[in-house]
Amino acid sequence: MSAAEHKSIDKDRLVSAVQAEDDASFELKLRPRYLREFIGQNKVKENLSVAIEAAKSRGEALDHVLLYGPPGLGKTTLATIIANEMGVAYQQSAGPAIQIKGDLTAILTNLRDRQVLFLDEVHRLQPALEEILYSALEDYKLDIIIGQGPSARTHTIDVRPFTFVAATTRAGMLSAPLRSRFGILLRLEFYTTEELKFVVERSAEILGVSIDDAGADELAHRARGTPRIANRLLRRVRDFAQVRGQGRIDKATAQAALEMLEVDKHGFDEIDRRLLLTIIQKYNGGPVGLSTLAAALAEDQDALEEIYEPFLIQIGFLDRTPRGRVATRMAYEHFGIKYGRQPDLF
Ligand code: ADP
Repeated sequence: MSAAEHKSIDKDRLVSAVQAEDDASFELKLRPRYLREFIGQNKVKENLSVAIEAAKSRGEALDHVLLYGPPGLGKTTLATIIANEMGVAYQQSAGPAIQIKGDLTAILTNLRDRQVLFLDEVHRLQPALEEILYSALEDYKLDIIIGQGPSARTHTIDVRPFTFVAATTRAGMLSAPLRSRFGILLRLEFYTTEELKFVVERSAEILGVSIDDAGADELAHRARGTPRIANRLLRRVRDFAQVRGQGRIDKATAQAALEMLEVDKHGFDEIDRRLLLTIIQKYNGGPVGLSTLAAALAEDQDALEEIYEPFLIQIGFLDRTPRGRVATRMAYEHFGIKYGRQPDLF
């Protein structure tokens, strides 16, 4: 099964960081439009605001930007913010959506002055298309081959100065030549609970939902360091509060709703639990290789690495070692299992 198919399964998870279909319109309302509205990621914001101010004062396009980190942390949001802060046009596409050279050439020749061109999942752009990008990124030139065989000629045409903002969950999968074309490399980190609380409170205000401090705290704790999940939990808990409560989200309402939705105190769901329990029970706590683990879980390796593991590693439940994945003491304690390698039964 491909990673893409897995992502569609993953979309059904309430605590998935991947955008679900019904998230789109809801997220649009909640998406911060300027840097000052963007919560957390202070280093990223500082770097960007200095670079944006400098580019604006020179009247130039901003340097190309690479944003990398797990899904749902604000890469697309930052791309739109860059365009808004620069006061330029914005256009968006994704690596897998561009299939033929003509598509990319059309995009590049129609660019507007200093605009932002955002490309999500840049690591999934075909290598042949990547090569077309190089000279466009380097000196705003595009080589077009006209004709075929011996009579083929190369024409070089100018494209307007622009800012390429690319996003990836897998920076390691980018080719070195592509990576070297970015002047600004920004890594997004998981958010702290405190920051997620701000996200929840900000979103609640925009949506006109009444939530108290303890209620927001409860949601923030279970959002897996990810604003997209915080917003989705808020939406589901709001429904619960309307139907079963007084419409206000307090601690008790939040807890009851999250219990009904089967989101535990770390924001784990069935797949996280299965992943950790498989390592603990089937592989004696590990180390177990990624491919073995993926087979045991009937999950795709890419999906495991990209979607499920980063958060478990971040909170210290899982270690990636050279010999494979290892469940930590904290993971054992979470499940009430005595820590230490269990003696083999035979
Ligand atoms: P990514 O592109 O990394 O998958 P998005 O930029 O689409 O993530 O972010 C998902 C949603 O999370 C956005 O619609 C936005 O509402 C919210 N969000 C992300 N980052 C922040 C932030 N720093 N502050 C407030 N909301 C945020």
